[in-house]
Amino acid sequence: MSVMDIFETMEYGPAPESATPGLDWIKEHQPFGLFINNQWAKPASGQYLDTINPSTGKPLAQVAAANSADVEVAVSAARDAFELWGKTPGHVRARYLYAIARHIQKHSRLLAVLESLDNGKTIRETRDLDIPLVARHFYYHAGWAQLMASELPGYEPVGVVGQIIPWNFPLLMMAWKIAPALAMGNTVVLKPARYTPLTALKFAEICQEVGLPPGVVNILTGEASQVGEALVRHPDVNKIAFTGSTDVGRGIRRATAGSGKKLSLELGGKSPFIVFDDADLDSVVEGVVDAIWFNQGQVCCAGSRLLVQENIADRLIEKLRNRMEKLRIGDALDKAVDIGAIVSAVQLQEIQRLVNQGVEEGAVMWQPSWACPTEGFYFPPTLFTNVSPATTIAQVEIFGPVLVSMTFRTPAEAVALANNTRYGLAASVWSDNINLALDVAPKLKAGTVWVNCTNMFDASSGFGGYRESGYGREGGKEGLYEYVRPSWETQRIDQPASPSNGHTPVGTPSIATETDEQHENGHAAFSSTTLPPIDRTPKLFIKGKQERPDSGYSRDVYDPQHRVIGQIGEGNRKDIRNAVEAAHAASGWANSTTHNRAQILYYIAENLAIREDEFIRRIVQQTGRSYKDAAAEVQTSLSRLFTCAAWADKYEGTVHRPPLRGVVLAMKEAIGVIGIACPDEQPLLGFISLVAPAIAMGNTIVIIPSEQAPLSATDCYQVFETSDIPAGVVNIVTGDRDALAQVLSDHDDVDAIWYFGTAEGSQRVEMASAGNMKRTWVNYGHSRNWLVPIQGEGEEFLREATQVKNIWVPYGE
Ligand code: NAD
Ligand code: MN
Repeated sequence: MSVMDIFETMEYGPAPESATPGLDWIKEHQPFGLFINNQWAKPASGQYLDTINPSTGKPLAQVAAANSADVEVAVSAARDAFELWGKTPGHVRARYLYAIARHIQKHSRLLAVLESLDNGKTIRETRDLDIPLVARHFYYHAGWAQLMASELPGYEPVGVVGQIIPWNFPLLMMAWKIAPALAMGNTVVLKPARYTPLTALKFAEICQEVGLPPGVVNILTGEASQVGEALVRHPDVNKIAFTGSTDVGRGIRRATAGSGKKLSLELGGKSPFIVFDDADLDSVVEGVVDAIWFNQGQVCCAGSRLLVQENIADRLIEKLRNRMEKLRIGDALDKAVDIGAIVSAVQLQEIQRLVNQGVEEGAVMWQPSWACPTEGFYFPPTLFTNVSPATTIAQVEIFGPVLVSMTFRTPAEAVALANNTRYGLAASVWSDNINLALDVAPKLKAGTVWVNCTNMFDASSGFGGYRESGYGREGGKEGLYEYVRPSWETQRIDQPASPSNGHTPVGTPSIATETDEQHENGHAAFSSTTLPPIDRTPKLFIKGKQERPDSGYSRDVYDPQHRVIGQIGEGNRKDIRNAVEAAHAASGWANSTTHNRAQILYYIAENLAIREDEFIRRIVQQTGRSYKDAAAEVQTSLSRLFTCAAWADKYEGTVHRPPLRGVVLAMKEAIGVIGIACPDEQPLLGFISLVAPAIAMGNTIVIIPSEQAPLSATDCYQVFETSDIPAGVVNIVTGDRDALAQVLSDHDDVDAIWYFGTAEGSQRVEMASAGNMKRTWVNYGHSRNWLVPIQGEGEEFLREATQVKNIWVPYGE
């Protein structure tokens, strides 16, 4: 027998990592209490739950079952702690986060063992990936705590944050939540997943060790229906950060609608893994192993759809099957195992159910010849071929080690197939032609794109979804904004708006009084009484043309004295649908150069300026405000167009340098079609302040002008017509603002909604947005002073108009 023969036939022996440190730690602590105010508390229910070791199927530990009474106590502890923590200097918070990172490293072996025991994921992964990334996340955010004052001026912490995490990366998801929250000065009540509470409880101990002030981090184990829902509904929780399934995320969106709670959702995925025919197929095979068999495929961004160029499909599938035959499955603590256990019996059944359905749907299933261990929850790596794109297994997230493969012929077909999903979390592109890969990457609707690699993560590079994969980012600077709010918002809540700063809606007595005063002061050269009525009925503005409303009806527009000053088209559902279609057809706008978009915004300003006097009078006529006041509004509108033109070619991406040979390109992309409902205050400025940033960033829009004072917006038709703006980029539908906003919110082809109206309207928009999980930006009935730059323009607007895509480009041979 030659050495080579021995090498090829040699069997793996067991290479177990010792479970003892984990089991000893459990024995010392159980039954585990709830972690509130840095102390272990008994649950109000007096009940405890088992957590299971999926590698054996046997109970591992008993943890407390919290209920809403415990949530009450924890939230109030977090509230009290926030009083101080929210004002603690960034440097002090940085020291705590740094200490946490150090302690995680010190306890890394125990944490890795506990994670493998509780979740069933292999020790190789917990040791080499989960725990190091957890530490990295705290280090990285220690830095942001240090820099918050200088890098996020004008922002403050949100307050008490409720955080709910899944079981697939228990400690890592916890780190992604807690690190930025604490860095930005928030306090936390966190609910680990029912199946995997142990590492979070070890983390609680670390919080004690580093002397984190009591109440800053509180951890409640228990059932979703008891803890999760109570957290989501708690009135004193200012933000919910959730990672989990899209259905639960949708429920949370509805439950928090109108409450004013900030919300970030990291949801499911069905991510494409695209292989072009010039890719290095051996690397591709290893990439597929990492994409779908990493963590047993229980990965939100798993490359679960293999899309292969047709001419190499047979070759790749053959190589893949050979590789699958060699994968090793077994006890998570065995260091020589590739695939561990599925987290629970329920999850195992669900995977089996979907695989059966795939077979029934006519796809060809392949599994390796070896058998899985009979004890514990195991599922073999599974590959489907002959999958048609519309079937269940091609569309539904299986969340298990199951890969479905499909073929394409051209890059365009690959992109279309890749985007044929309601999700948009991640994508992986394999080609040795970097030009092709970098051409395809921006066309993929996903928050992360990996070029010739997959499942790479780093704290510096934000992670999060497009579409039904949710919104908000974790990691990167963009992730910080999920945990702060502009300081002026809090000040606004404290001080009621005064009429002179334009807060009061038009037509109210206080405005009339102001006008009278200004008359006396001799400021007003014109008032509504001196203007003859203008008989003009603007139509709707759709696809660059003035279109008659479908209803054939129009509605009267009144001045503050309730005299009819004009009529506007009564838009309806059909008009909105046409407008959305036009906006979609104009999506090429996102690919126009930023220079071009800037030029058009300047041109709009130029054309508006030509008719300045007309626009001033129109504002006076609709609002009864003074000429001078209206002139200021028009001037500010012009300035705003300039601001957005300026930003169009300056609000750019970043290049991250995570710890790898390569770069991550964080690109700011347009969201797509944005539906916008305009505020009643400042009819021209409110409209321009929303149109300009949206289109500057490459979105196309359907905008509903103020219902009370729509004529300033409809007067812009001619401005747009003469400004070279492509047809369909701006579509304007007048009528009943809230009814039309509702249609936009329900519409599945609208990607985001901005709503500036009433509190009830805000709630309806958030509620309806859950349908396709569109992003929302609403004002909860609070008005803004659009004249003030911090409230009417700048980064907040640009951020709402974009989403960050991180494109990972490793290099080297
Ligand atoms: P899940 O939605 O069932 O549960 C997630 C968490 O929410 C758990 O802690 C659970 O107890 C809690 N929860 C469940 N119902 C709730 C309710 N009504 N109110 C409040 N909390 C509730 O998801 P899961 O099965 O634990 O995790 C798998 C899912 O998570 C997959 O869909 C996966 O794609 C997704 N995921 C996404 C990401 C991401 O970053 N986008 C990361 C990991 C997992
Ligand atoms: Mn468990």
